[in-house]
Amino acid sequence: MDVLVVGAGPAGLALAGQCARSGLTTGLVDPAPERPWTATYGMWSPELPGDLPPSVIAARAAGRVFAQTQHHLGWEYAVVDVPALHAHLVRQLTGVHIHAGRVVGSPERGMVALADGSSLRAEVVVDAGGRWRPLDPIPARRGAAEQTAYGLIVGEDDAAALLGPGDALFMDWRPDHGEAGWPTFLYAVPLGGGEVLVEETSLARRPGLPMPTLRRRLHARLTRHGISPPEDARSEKVWFPVDHPRHEVRGVLGFGAAAPLIHPATGFSLAASLQLAPQVAEALAAHLPDGPGRALTAARRTVWPPAAKVIHRLRRIGLEALLRMPPDEVPVFFEQFFTMPERHRWTYLTARDDVRGTAAAMGCLYRSTGGPLRRRLVTSAVRRPVKSNDASATGDPPSDR
Ligand SMILES: Cc1cc2nc3c(=O)[nH]c(=O)nc-3n(C[C@H](O)[C@H](O)[C@H](O)COP(=O)(O)OP(=O)(O)OC[C@H]3O[C@@H](n4cnc5c(N)ncnc54)[C@H](O)[C@@H]3O)c2cc1C
Repeated sequence: MDVLVVGAGPAGLALAGQCARSGLTTGLVDPAPERPWTATYGMWSPELPGDLPPSVIAARAAGRVFAQTQHHLGWEYAVVDVPALHAHLVRQLTGVHIHAGRVVGSPERGMVALADGSSLRAEVVVDAGGRWRPLDPIPARRGAAEQTAYGLIVGEDDAAALLGPGDALFMDWRPDHGEAGWPTFLYAVPLGGGEVLVEETSLARRPGLPMPTLRRRLHARLTRHGISPPEDARSEKVWFPVDHPRHEVRGVLGFGAAAPLIHPATGFSLAASLQLAPQVAEALAAHLPDGPGRALTAARRTVWPPAAKVIHRLRRIGLEALLRMPPDEVPVFFEQFFTMPERHRWTYLTARDDVRGTAAAMGCLYRSTGGPLRRRLVTSAVRRPVKSNDASATGDPPSDR
């Protein structure tokens, strides 16, 4: 094969399909390649790739935020119809060789070993294995900073006290859950078909805030707003790392959440993966005639142009600043963030390769903050990463761990 993609999540499917369309002999391997996806996916509407059919969008809503006060984002949020997106990407897989199997490593360049003892070979191997990064043998040096969330799916009439029609709450930092300690926010989005997802979210914590805490807070928050979810309401559990270093294993291209394309300030990676997939496939197709090394280098440069590397570093500094903030400071920080002009907010939340724009947004944020928060933003660039947020200062009951 020319290209073997490991992982049949959205990033792997999108890239495998685009490689096949670019004329490359392509394979895709996953323990359960046909398994439907269960997560709720969303992205900012302006980031929707132009070639996505409208039928893959379940709902669109105007983005709103509560930090200390309410803010309108100024752009729209699109909630994906996940089965429709899956079906759409599967339809693009014509000609792709699909293998069911669990990848356990890449013992040599261009070779992938499977758990059943068999192996697959390709000129270029792509690790699109999401948070598992099956082709990255390097163990994490410290505990990961993780986004965790616990959500329930309720009827839109039941959620009316929190979410109006055409409305999406990107973040609601009001402490309506009634607990001190590690700050969490409510994320509430329409799913279409009269349903709404309400999710208590810990944006990032090292390690992730445990599910029982999030569940308890969600129920307390809903009660506070007079919402009692039905006993049999479907739930969603979110857990993934937001501080993976860049995937730099020799002979392998990291793609999707494995790259990592995850933005630590939102946890989003879907839009970036869908946008980059055709560009990466084009780079591979253009350079494979010069050898797999050249093709891999070109694909890596497409995923990680120098500017994107700088921004990855800047975003991780922002993440470490967040992990250092005392709980009371977090809503103040987001109040400053969402008070910034729209262009700065948009650039910081979405641009992967606009160093000047991202630096301008960070500069604007720095100027608008004062005192300890300002110091924290600066010192995070030079201090060692936070080892753990598990100190008793977080205020979480120890019984949750
Ligand atoms: C509940 C939830 C909600 C989320 N919501 C959003 C959202 O709204 N917007 C957004 O942008 N992001 C969201 N995310 C983040 C999310 O992880 C992704 O953006 C998206 O799933 C990443 O796609 P991916 O294809 O890179 O990885 P994944 O979707 O994680 O897919 C990885 C694939 O690799 C396969 N794999 C793993 N190990 C192996 C192995 N050893 N061998 C072979 N295959 C393997 C897995 O089976 C899986 O199919 C959410 C995550 C969760 C958990």
